Formats: sequence, structure tokens, C-alpha cells
Amino acid sequence: HTHESSSSKRKVIAVVGGGLVGSLNACFFAKRGFDVAVFESREDIRQAKVVRGRSINLALSHRGRQALKHVGMEDKIVSKGIPMHARMIHNTNGKRSPIPYGKKGQYILSVDRANLNKELLAEADTFPNTTLNFNHKLHDWSPKTGAMTFIGPDGQRKELQADLIVGCDGAFSAVRKQFLRQSRFNYSQTYIPHGYMELTMPPKDGDFAMEPNYLHIWPRNTFMMIALPNLDRTFTCTLFMPFEDFEKIRSGDEVIRFFQQYFPDSIPLIGVEALKQDFFRLPAQAMVSVKCSPYHLFDKCVLMGDAAHAVVPFYGQGMNAGFEDCLVINEIMDQLDENIAAVLQEYTRVRVPDDHAIADLAMYNYVEMRAHVNSKYFLFRKYLDNILHVIMPKTIVPLYTMVTFTRTRYHEAVNRWHWQDKVITRGLWVCGVVSAAGGMYVLVRNSHKLPSISAEHLWTRILALKRFLKCSCK
Ligand code: FAD
Repeated sequence: HTHESSSSKRKVIAVVGGGLVGSLNACFFAKRGFDVAVFESREDIRQAKVVRGRSINLALSHRGRQALKHVGMEDKIVSKGIPMHARMIHNTNGKRSPIPYGKKGQYILSVDRANLNKELLAEADTFPNTTLNFNHKLHDWSPKTGAMTFIGPDGQRKELQADLIVGCDGAFSAVRKQFLRQSRFNYSQTYIPHGYMELTMPPKDGDFAMEPNYLHIWPRNTFMMIALPNLDRTFTCTLFMPFEDFEKIRSGDEVIRFFQQYFPDSIPLIGVEALKQDFFRLPAQAMVSVKCSPYHLFDKCVLMGDAAHAVVPFYGQGMNAGFEDCLVINEIMDQLDENIAAVLQEYTRVRVPDDHAIADLAMYNYVEMRAHVNSKYFLFRKYLDNILHVIMPKTIVPLYTMVTFTRTRYHEAVNRWHWQDKVITRGLWVCGVVSAAGGMYVLVRNSHKLPSISAEHLWTRILALKRFLKCSCK
């Protein structure tokens, strides 16, 4: 078994990066019968004591699950995930109110990143046509020859060759560096002003300190905190806040003062002492959004996952989109009979608009999650969209539902959302105008006996309507 030449009959695929997308992708390519070699710069996390990743847990939804299902991993991962049926909004006065994610029975799953990555590596390892090479950091590669240079475990440089390089080496991809030297390669990278910090909420009396089957959100307009449950009955709280606000908090007492003002209900649950210390354990981490195109370079290389499209984490779709990338290229491999040059071209054509759409949506949700959920009109529209979805399930599908619970192409979901929004907003206007005109008509006709329309009567009607709206959303 050699990766040094492509002279063997089976094509050799080098997957650079053994993170979430790389390890899943290795399974997909191995399943097709390619010779697969994974090169990962870290040590084997299955043996490591501490595993560093971009977050402790993350939300897995339909697209990611479909990809896992394809390699027979869905049940294994889902069984270790915790269903979250709704968001739980925490007000500053401690009041909590749930907003369901979709219809009854629809939920997203909180999964442990390290465990997911270990399981995927273990699965890739079961294929006889796959090798996993840890402590192999890609230094550079040549678009002319396709030769890759790695820094190996002993610090020595190593040259290796493959028929196709699949860059799954994350947001700061080394594979992507060569793309940047090419003419007509589009690239943009944006850091948002917010950073994130993770804090642990331990179990209370041996059980979850809050309701476990929710994604808890403390929206505070310019910043927010969220919490996702873990199997060990802890929650991982993530505080998203502008870096300049993080920098203003310098001492343990200032942390507590800040939490007392904005997240008072979380203080006893995280613990005063823990909060004072954990806040300063690690500096806040940056978040970057990366968009580029094309995703391929000749027939030599393709970028997938965060290497192709790092998105801000506010739609919970980064990994899901990366997992769907694996499904999409696999579907195209079927269609085009594994003709690599044609597959890569088609992959770029199909996937760029979708990954760009989810990058934009994630940016949009960056505002929605921390600010809009505090607005009455926004909540009313969420309820209305859900009701309309129940009445006309084919015509009106809420955006969140399309993104999270279907495989509707991301860019189509965005187009439909704009269309639906236009129709519903117009409908609301028409309703408003018609009822105003109707009201005027009744008023004018009955002006001689005006007192008969009592304000009280009108009010009970409004309350009844409000109750009806609420009930139909449960
Ligand atoms: P990574 O996970 O970054 O893996 C890249 C791998 O490549 C790493 O193992 C790295 O060691 C390796 N590597 C890097 N450079 C080299 C090199 N030169 N040579 C060899 N190997 C290399 N997504 C969701 O779907 N749901 C969520 O709820 C969610 N929450 C998130 C919360 C936060 C705070 C953040 C930051 C992200 C979140 N995401 C979420 C996004 C998700 O983390 C990423 O989309 C996902 O990790 C992408 O996987 P990847 O394999 O492409 O990249």
C-alpha cells in the first residue's frame, strides 16, 4: 500500500485534516473503493488526554445526520446526543419561555465534538483501504505536480503524492494557500467583532441544573449567552460578546457584577467561585467567516468543510454544511462515474451558491439570535409562519425548518424565504387594510348607535384571537 505513487490501479485520495469533515470524508471515499490516506497535524485524539477543538459540543441536525447515515454512523452518534426540541429564552428577570424549533417531534441534537471526531476516526480506521497519519502537518503542495510536503512526527519534511488532494484542514486551511496564488480565485474573510468564551455549568444534586432538552439562550441585544447540554449532565455555556466588552471585565468581582446585571439566574448554577476563575482561564476566541470560489483547482485538489466555507456559528450549520459537502460530492461521483475532473467542476458549480447562502444566513442569525428574539413582532411572525406552515405545509415552510430539518438546497431556502416573506407581509397589509376599511364602514353605518360597540367587547375579541394564535402553535 503506497501513497508515494499513483501507479497502482486504485486512485489515491489524500484527505488533509482529520477533523469532523476530513474523517467523515475519508469514510465516504473509502466506501467508494479509493485508497485513502488521511493526514492530520494533531496527534491521534483517541489516545490524547486533552482534546482541543473549536467548541466542546455542537448542534447536529438533518443534513449532518443524512451524511452520517450514508456511512452507517447515524444511530451511533444520535444515541449519544441530547435532543433539544426548543430554544429556552431567559429574560433578565429570570423568566423563561420556550420557542419550539419546528413541529412536534422535530429537534436538533447536542453532540460532543471530541466523541464525534473519535467515532469518525475509528470508523475510517475500519476500512482496509484507509490509512490514518497523525502528526502530519501539511506545509505546502504543488498545483503543478500535486506533490505535498508534510512536516512529519520527527519534524522532518516528507514529500508525498496523490491523485486527488481533499482539503479538509479547517478555517485556516494550508491547502487553500495555493488557491490564493491562482488567477480568478475569489476569496473573502471577515472577522466579526464578537469573541466567544465557554463556561461549564455543573450538575445540581446529580442532575441537570436546567431543563436538559432545550438550547438555552440569554439574548441581550448586543451580546448573548447560550447553553447546550452534555451527556455528563453539565451544560456548556458560551458567551458571545464584542471583544471590547470582554476587555472591560478585568477582575472576578467585575465578572460577578456583569453576570448579576445580565444573567442573574445563571450565577448560582455556574457557581460564583467557578465563574470568577473560569472567565479568565482562556482568552475569548475569534470567529471568522470565509467565502471563496471555485472550490477546486484543476483535477488535483478540492476544498471541503471549513476550509471552503468557515461560517459564524449562529445557525448551527457549519459542521452540518461540511457533512452535506461529503454527501453532495458523493452524489456527483455517482452521476459522473468518478470522472474526477468533471466531478470537481460540477461540485464547485453546485455547491458554491449553497455554501455562500449558509454563510450569509449564519451572519443574519448572528443578529437574530441575540436581538430579534427580544422583539414582539419577530415572535409574532415566528408564530404566524408556524401556523401557516400547519395550514399550508407545502406552500409556507419557515426558513429555520428548511435549513435545519430538510435538505432543501441552502440557496433555494433563501429564495423561498424571501418569496414567502413578501407574500406574508403583503397578506398582513391586506388584512390590516381590509379590517380598517371594514371597521370604518361599520362605524359610519352605525354612527347613530355608536355606544353599542363596546370597547370591552372588542377587547375580549382580541384576547380570544390571541389565545387562538397561542394554542395553534403548541
Ligand atoms: P475543523 O473541525 O477545524 O478540522 C480541521 C482539521 O484539520 C483539524 O483536525 C486540524 O488539526 C487539521 N489541520 C489543520 N491544519 C492542518 C494542516 N496544515 N495539515 C494537516 N492537518 C491540519 N457547526 C454546527 O454544525 N453546529 C454547531 O452547533 C456548531 N457550533 C459551533 C460553535 C463554535 C463556537 C464554533 C467555532 C463552531 C461551531 N460549528 C458548529 C462549526 C463547526 O465547528 C465547523 O464547521 C466544523 O468543525 C468544520 O469541520 P472541519 O473538519 O471542516 O474543520
